[in-house]
Amino acid sequence: MDYFPIFLDIKKRAVLIVGGGEIAARKVALLKRARPQITIVAPKLSDGLAELLAQGEIAHRAGEFNDDDLNGCALVVAATDDAVVNRAVYDAAEKRNLPVNVVDCPELCRFIFPSIVDRTPVTVAVSTSGTSPVLARLLRAHLETMIPANYGRLANLLAGFRDKVKSRFPDISGRRHFWERILQGAATEMVFSGREQDATQLIEAALDSDDTGGKMTGAEKTGEVALVGAGPGDPDLLTFRALRLMQQADVVLYDRLVSKEVLDLVRREADQIYVGKKRSFHAVRQEEINQTLADLAQQGKRVVRLKGGDPFIFGRGGEEIATLAEQGIPFQVVPGITAASGCASYAGIPLTHRDYAQSVRFVTGQLKDGTIDLDWNILAQPQQTIVIYMGLQGLPEICEQLIKHGASSSLPVALIQQGTTVHQQVITATLTTLPKVVAAQEVHAPTLLIVGEVVSLHDQLAWFKPIKEV
Ligand code: SAH
Repeated sequence: MDYFPIFLDIKKRAVLIVGGGEIAARKVALLKRARPQITIVAPKLSDGLAELLAQGEIAHRAGEFNDDDLNGCALVVAATDDAVVNRAVYDAAEKRNLPVNVVDCPELCRFIFPSIVDRTPVTVAVSTSGTSPVLARLLRAHLETMIPANYGRLANLLAGFRDKVKSRFPDISGRRHFWERILQGAATEMVFSGREQDATQLIEAALDSDDTGGKMTGAEKTGEVALVGAGPGDPDLLTFRALRLMQQADVVLYDRLVSKEVLDLVRREADQIYVGKKRSFHAVRQEEINQTLADLAQQGKRVVRLKGGDPFIFGRGGEEIATLAEQGIPFQVVPGITAASGCASYAGIPLTHRDYAQSVRFVTGQLKDGTIDLDWNILAQPQQTIVIYMGLQGLPEICEQLIKHGASSSLPVALIQQGTTVHQQVITATLTTLPKVVAAQEVHAPTLLIVGEVVSLHDQLAWFKPIKEV
């Protein structure tokens, strides 16, 4: 090991930074998080540092570095662009055995700055021992995506239980078992998704239970259902939370809209249950799905219900969690990128535009019984964009009705097939011509219709050009 990693308490300690430019400012920004008393020695300060000085966040001694600046210091950083000054700072600090860092000069460093993942109080520091700061940054980015933003809150919550747990489990191994159980259970995910009250209740119940061994209380035994938006197809469009839950799941229920690429990211050991529905044959099935979710959670499983796009947009997500709410089963809803956003972005069609559309409406082109019942007068108004989900079957009627209710017959319309996937295809035409154009070719579901002047921007703004199948 070239450097020994330690975490230094520099609260209220004097930290000296020599240099007043951008590099110094960056180090100040980093060090400041640990609340030291920072003094900058430099003839003058950059604007950013001058602002910090005005806010009383740092002190400044205007002038050249001299040995006395090190008096009382706990840490020294040289960040000037003058090699002679940097060397002088290093030599003076070495003489006093002070930890010193000369920025971008590994041979003049007694300590180095790691790349930091900050989830205070949890902190992860990454170093390549100065060999490649860029590599350290890449690794940090990787960790940033893997460690939930609320990790620090979890640590703080657990800290609040330390004394109670200690008196409840006097021996170390009892405590360790308890914490392992809690951290691998539902409480963790509750904190990550911002439900600290629920997590607190769960931990309290676990502490109050009679059993001092590793057995779980009734509340702990119940699993949780996460209704997760899987986005429109491209797995890169998943949220961090969706991915985390998919990788922790015991069982995943998914339907037709969830792409294979997204399913590939589910934990390998998880059971995968297909609950795809055929059009106009889903009334009974839906109830069955709702109950299956509840039953699995009651068996203590971590259940993920994966839904294409966003679960609360034409996804019947509300119905599925209503059953869970009735039965007192914990659940959470993870939003996803809905087809309208995904398809519009990937087709280069802004849904609103200052010149063309001041509002956007998401409507469904198909009711439960297969008919269409839309307020055509409103939809035919100008200066708006209409996004129609499930509109392929009713396409001729939709176009006809819009024209009949006053929309321009030359209004541009786009039909986006399998949006955001490598198979994406965009057909653009007008209200008059689209039904014929579509009828003349093979169309692959799912498809989304976008109606409005914004569609004309597609020619200019399309950027996503997937490889065509041969
Ligand atoms: N909850 C989903 C919508 C479910 S309704 C969401 O938020 O996106 C199903 C309809 O969504 C399909 O009939 C189709 O109109 C649309 N859709 C979903 N994914 C799509 C995709 N990748 N490309 C085109 N349309 C899509």
